Amino acid sequence: MRVIERARQAAKLTLATSLQYSGAMSLIRARRLQNRAVILMYHRIIPESEARFDYAPTGMVVTTPVFDMHMRHLARTHKTVTMPELVTLLDSGEAQDRPLAAVTFDDGWLDNYTNAFPLLQRHQVPATIFIASNFIDDKEYYWLERMKLVLAHAHRVLVTESIPLGQRDALKKALAALNVTDLAGSLHPRLGMFLASQARNVQSLGLTDRCSYLEKIEQIASLAALPDTRYFMNWNEIRTLRDEGITIGAHTTTHTELTSVDASHLQDEIGIGKARLEEELQQTVDHFAYPYGKHNKDIQAAIAANGFSSACTTVNGLVNRDTGRLLLNRVNMHTSVSMTRSMFAYRAMGL
Ligand SMILES: [Zn+2]
Repeated sequence: MRVIERARQAAKLTLATSLQYSGAMSLIRARRLQNRAVILMYHRIIPESEARFDYAPTGMVVTTPVFDMHMRHLARTHKTVTMPELVTLLDSGEAQDRPLAAVTFDDGWLDNYTNAFPLLQRHQVPATIFIASNFIDDKEYYWLERMKLVLAHAHRVLVTESIPLGQRDALKKALAALNVTDLAGSLHPRLGMFLASQARNVQSLGLTDRCSYLEKIEQIASLAALPDTRYFMNWNEIRTLRDEGITIGAHTTTHTELTSVDASHLQDEIGIGKARLEEELQQTVDHFAYPYGKHNKDIQAAIAANGFSSACTTVNGLVNRDTGRLLLNRVNMHTSVSMTRSMFAYRAMGL
């Protein structure tokens, strides 16, 4: 974390803590959230022991104990609802005793089922999970996960395994060709940042280009078989969550940036992704989240034409009765910005 960012976080923590202990937080919350609601956005919930070795971008991870604290706190301070309930209550304009909060997860990660769901149950917090259907059908490994895994593997090989010198040089050379020059250090604190910057560059590429980039780095790390890790839920797990009251929403077919998709192919992502979920769940799917938060007027029109009644963005902020239903702001949660109760409470106000 850069020095300025660290100082900003420290200032926020100090402010949030003093507000919490002065009792001002609940007053501010009551005023700020009057007639407004917060939609929280989560991705992955993983135990601390795993988080230390995980190369996921920090913006996508909340550790299990921190998520436990979030849900305990939220259940006490908010009326927690699913996305369909949130939309209905916003439409009704009914005054609420407590501010509304909807917990959402994007993509369909397996840890939502194994780690988050038991905690949602413990605190009786409902949730909505937006699923990219190809992740579940195993047609497309999430490219960023695959890239992470390959680079993490190359890193481990360089740091811990004794491999023939020639092979080692070949690996380093191949990595250097991709501008990855510093994976051989004993610890690599900047790997997460490196991956995040790669992600920004690669994210805007089309699917074919992205896959060829991935193939290239997979060749580099072909020294040993990659571990057989499953990252996403299967349909049975998703149906179990649905049966337990979790709302399932759509998140396209391949999880591509919709703004880079040709208009004639928008339906492949929006309509087919929806139809695939409906086929497996045998029910309509009415709520949507834009991958990477990317959307425009044509995309919104396609969302409406497919019968979705709401769509979530990744723009930070609260929502109210007047917020466009296809432009719902969310508040992204990750551990480093929400590790104490005060920081969580502060952030959940959309600040
Ligand atoms: Zn996503």
